[in-house]
Amino acid sequence: MEAKFAILMERVEYDFNVSVEFVNGENSYWTPTPIAEVEELDCQGIIDIGDDQNEFEKLISLIHEVGHVIFSEGNKLKEHRRIPLFEEALAWHLGYDYALLQGIEINLKEYAERVETALQLYTRGSK
Ligand SMILES: [Zn+2]
Repeated sequence: MEAKFAILMERVEYDFNVSVEFVNGENSYWTPTPIAEVEELDCQGIIDIGDDQNEFEKLISLIHEVGHVIFSEGNKLKEHRRIPLFEEALAWHLGYDYALLQGIEINLKEYAERVETALQLYTRGSK
């Protein structure tokens, strides 16, 4: 699991010009660099991974946050409006496909359970 995380982290940093870092706690985040600063910083943003998670959870978190990176790059609705649940769900989907393309396989049954839990928590939290 640790090896998968390391491989994926390297690929992600290279492919998307982002920085993957560890932060205290259980939560992970994607923070895009403000557009005006992208050129100067030569970095598209930071993926923070909560270090208070087991190795599987860290890997899943990285996959999900990468999904956000891919979504924000390709999202045609972005200028119009943000639809948070749409973005959440697609981040899980896009991240999984990206990881698979890198040869990182995640048990689909386990992954689906995590996605379901995360989306349930998300809809509850946003109400
Ligand atoms: Zn998310």
